[in-house]
Amino acid sequence: MELVKPAPPHVDERIRRLVPYSPGKPVEEVKRELGLTDVIKLASNENALGPSPMAIRAIRAAAERVHAYPEGSCHELRAAVARRHNVPEDWLTFGNGSDDVIHNLGLAFLLPGDEVIEASPTFSQYATAAALNNAACVSVPTTEWVHDLAAMADRITDRTRVVFIANPNNPTGTMVAQAEVDAFMRRIPERALVVFDEAYHEYVERDDYPDALAYVRAGQNVVVLRTFSKIFGLAGLRVGYGVARPEIVDYINRVREPFNVNLLAQAAALAALDDAEHLLRSRELNRAGLTALSTRLRQMGLPFAPSEANFVWVDVGRPCRSVFQALLSRGVIVRTGDVFGAPTHLRVTTGTAEGTARFLAALEEVLEI
Ligand code: PMP
Repeated sequence: MELVKPAPPHVDERIRRLVPYSPGKPVEEVKRELGLTDVIKLASNENALGPSPMAIRAIRAAAERVHAYPEGSCHELRAAVARRHNVPEDWLTFGNGSDDVIHNLGLAFLLPGDEVIEASPTFSQYATAAALNNAACVSVPTTEWVHDLAAMADRITDRTRVVFIANPNNPTGTMVAQAEVDAFMRRIPERALVVFDEAYHEYVERDDYPDALAYVRAGQNVVVLRTFSKIFGLAGLRVGYGVARPEIVDYINRVREPFNVNLLAQAAALAALDDAEHLLRSRELNRAGLTALSTRLRQMGLPFAPSEANFVWVDVGRPCRSVFQALLSRGVIVRTGDVFGAPTHLRVTTGTAEGTARFLAALEEVLEI
């Protein structure tokens, strides 16, 4: 019998143009592919300390209840987060990771022909949200790996609908300060929405870090994104949220999927919020990791961007893919810069003390420094 190949289903041009998200390589995959037993991953900006013990206990207890749908409104978690930020509960929208909130923002606010402004390089999902909704994405180069807010403001047009500012930025780890952001906000027309993605907020130690929530409180068209994936150590569960005026939250909630934050995730996030000790220890571990990385990278003569997050963006001065592969064969997974348009850069997450030391030793060996 002759096989007739069916015609492919119709796929819109905007879907054809999309590039699937490229995640950090999973530990198990590297073990399988390279026959290694001892592999560490410093590629996805996860918390090397692991989750809070209080969150683990909450997950165990909640496991008994997974036959039931979760609270569609994240009722208890919402109340706790509202208390934490001292905002009304209807100023919050939750998501299956902050990725989901970014996706929802795109659905709610972007129309074909609209423009999104972002930095370059930055987190990939802003451009994806633009592409998915047939909006144009204007990527404005960073200056020495820092958002150039003045240049971004110069690119605002009548079509600009959303401006994304990752602060600190991924993959560079750099931040923009209060004074620059204030100047930027004075140039933003009322109709545009500014999204401050603060996935790494709790790691920042500089005291000129902007208070983005103050813009929300002042009634501006601003959304502040936060996540439980980073310092709270719950990346595997997927919980993030946005803080904005209730009118904005209401539109986002119209496009949000029902039950988009699962039951275990809600229970764990609620418990993690109360674990001040875990937060403190995570911050200390990160500070030690950043110090170890910057001290040694400086000695090695490798330029790196000043990081306010839990990772470092370093120029290894040769094609990053080959360095990545050589590190991989030594059981260390990092992220390559080429996917961010920086072919000689690596992004490395801070690890445990041993993990960070192991990366540095492997890098020295690979680069023969
Ligand atoms: N924003 C930034 C700047 C990030 O680095 C990440 C994590 N890769 C996210 C958002 C998404 O985080 P999550 O969906 O896990 O909350």
